[in-house]
Amino acid sequence: MIYAVLMWTSRMYLSYNSSMLKIQKQVDLRKHNTLKIAAKAAYFAIIYSKVELQEAYAWAKKKNLPIFVLGGGSNILFSQNIKALVLKNEIKGISVIKETKTAAWLEARSGEWWSTLVHFAVTHNWGGIENLYYVPGTVGAAPVQNIGAYGVELKDTFVSLLAFDLQSGKEKIFTAEECKFAYRDSVFKHKYKGRYFILSVTVKLSKNPKLKLDYGDIKAKLSEQGIKKPNIRQVAEIIRQIRDSKLPNPAVLANAGSFFKNPEISISAFKKLQLRFPEIKFFPSARPEKIKVPAGWLIEQAGFKGKRFGPVGMYENQALILVNYEGASAKQVLAQVRRVQLGVYKKFGLKIEPEVNIIN
Ligand SMILES: Cc1cc2nc3c(=O)[nH]c(=O)nc-3n(C[C@H](O)[C@H](O)[C@H](O)COP(=O)(O)OP(=O)(O)OC[C@H]3O[C@@H](n4cnc5c(N)ncnc54)[C@H](O)[C@@H]3O)c2cc1C
Repeated sequence: MIYAVLMWTSRMYLSYNSSMLKIQKQVDLRKHNTLKIAAKAAYFAIIYSKVELQEAYAWAKKKNLPIFVLGGGSNILFSQNIKALVLKNEIKGISVIKETKTAAWLEARSGEWWSTLVHFAVTHNWGGIENLYYVPGTVGAAPVQNIGAYGVELKDTFVSLLAFDLQSGKEKIFTAEECKFAYRDSVFKHKYKGRYFILSVTVKLSKNPKLKLDYGDIKAKLSEQGIKKPNIRQVAEIIRQIRDSKLPNPAVLANAGSFFKNPEISISAFKKLQLRFPEIKFFPSARPEKIKVPAGWLIEQAGFKGKRFGPVGMYENQALILVNYEGASAKQVLAQVRRVQLGVYKKFGLKIEPEVNIIN
């Protein structure tokens, strides 16, 4: 019954025939990004349906204006005012498109909150994305950086996505292979940067999943709570607890999560570094010839953890998180980014690259 209602509502969203599209001018984007940076959108509209997207697309085409797709704004640094039509995505709905004895295929519209999709899966006891619970933001942004947490990435359950081409106005289905997923990376950050409005994402979940419990934090919580064989719900709850205790809530302290990616270096370069810094931390990389060094550890060792520079700084409990304590400008944030990059480079000779999308 619930499925039927969800399928019906979501179909309604996509086939909704009339439009309430309202395009506003000179809109302050501060409340639309979790770093709380003040920047103005030349034009701004909230999109609730595909019909509204098509209308906004035609309007922008006539004016020869680019379109910028905005989800929850939790992985964005607006470096200046945006000379575009900014479309805030609110196209919502979740459908079960196929179910067998062992698996379920969920299609979620792109403006749905990612955590709402995880909650839906966990409630049905379908596994595969529970470790990604509470990653902020929308479903549509999840493939852009192949979101990942606690040993799981979107690509592990991803089936396909449907996207609207902002150049031709046509729709295209992308398979996992075509998305070219990698560590916090996809084709939508390179070749197709800004080209597509992702409309929906389909994932395949398991009714008998092999839970990923290898992460130290998960193991510690399980043993603390005396749970030997956790179920999907218990894992999701543990993820919630870990994230609550470690990450600053953007509603209280403005931030965009991990600001930098962990650098991946060759095994020989790592061995040289290990001679100079025997206590250096590392993880295996998905690429067997590489080793991942945690950027948070590098930033901490370079002396930035908890240190403030005016209104910005690296979070006191996790040096990887750049925090806007009070009204920082994009310029001040960018100066902090360069300061940290330079500090890490001087100490370790390693370049750390932002994970956050810097929008010019
Ligand atoms: C406290 C905190 C914790 C976080 N933890 C994690 C974590 O554990 N793992 C992780 O991977 N990330 C994490 N992040 C980063 C962020 O949650 C993810 O990157 C998320 O996917 C961003 O979603 P969003 O809707 O806010 O995207 P936005 O910030 O709005 O957009 C990000 C990029 O995606 C593009 N985009 C957005 N929607 C679409 C669409 N429909 N079609 C095409 N392009 C689109 C935008 O143009 C932009 O380039 C965290 C962030 C915060 C603030």
